[in-house]
Amino acid sequence: MKPATSIETGVSYSANGWLHHFEHDLQDIIAHNCTYIVHCFSENEMIFARKRTRQFFQMTRDAGLGCWANPWAVMGLFGGDQFSAFVPRNPEACQILSTGQRAPAACPSAPETRTAMKLWIDMATDFGADTIFWDEPHLYIPDWDDLHFAPDEAFACFCPRCRDSFQARFGQPLPDSLTPEMRLHREDLMVDFLTEMIGYAHDKGAKNAITLLPVDDDASESLPWNRIADIRGLDTFGTDPYWFLHGKDCEACVGGQMKQTMDVCERRGLTPHFWAQGFGIPSGREHELETGFRLAVERGAQSIAVWGMHGNAAWDGASEDPEKVWDVVGKTFGALRNR
Ligand SMILES: [Zn+2]
Repeated sequence: MKPATSIETGVSYSANGWLHHFEHDLQDIIAHNCTYIVHCFSENEMIFARKRTRQFFQMTRDAGLGCWANPWAVMGLFGGDQFSAFVPRNPEACQILSTGQRAPAACPSAPETRTAMKLWIDMATDFGADTIFWDEPHLYIPDWDDLHFAPDEAFACFCPRCRDSFQARFGQPLPDSLTPEMRLHREDLMVDFLTEMIGYAHDKGAKNAITLLPVDDDASESLPWNRIADIRGLDTFGTDPYWFLHGKDCEACVGGQMKQTMDVCERRGLTPHFWAQGFGIPSGREHELETGFRLAVERGAQSIAVWGMHGNAAWDGASEDPEKVWDVVGKTFGALRNR
């Protein structure tokens, strides 16, 4: 067990291109007792903002903070609010849904997908990221799409590669429901992909952190926590139990997810990680952030983070009193780091 003072505290950062704003934000982030920044490094930045990304990463390190790079919605395979440039350029590499629709997300089985992911890792590490943050990896989830591209019950993947590999493995065509074989096929798609990518980043000298969705075992979007945690090169493992978003009780939600997180981390020596939601917090409930963070640390979390700064005031879905949220985050981080 590390001493309590080793708690790391992070905040996500996205969608700003101005250096003078970032200089100001860096001081703001440090004043709110953060020890690392999770930079959202999307395909947009890969194409249009390489120089600026390198500068931001360097400034982060120069300020003494940890510099995490998050493949923000890259190829539709991770959490985030961005479109993919890869998808329209590589239609044959995309997931096909049970409805027959081509999803706006890459299939992990496609060689093009893996090549593009390695290019992203190369850039992120070359620009100075010390940690690659694998954020909510998932196959296409229809109900995340506010434009309702596909019915909620649709699932992937029925692309020609997946059809062939499933037939070869199970001696039957892909089923039209989530049979145990189909679940295993879907799990293996992501586990194999992440195994290759996490190993690749590890061999380049980066640390790897992952956050898996806090879903029930039988949910269609769930990934097998233990299999993911066994991946070579993984350093940090956690989840993001957003109790405001899902209408759950803070202590029950955090306590339950932290127990599962610790079960996975302790026997492997992984750093337990915890995210709290900084967006969409109703006025008057900001104190629950302190409750959630304290409980997570009491239960063993060594790395805690908030999505994102100033109650996500720059986005739709901002907290009702974003400055209050940011104030609670800063004070809680300070108190937990100096326990
Ligand atoms: Zn596929």
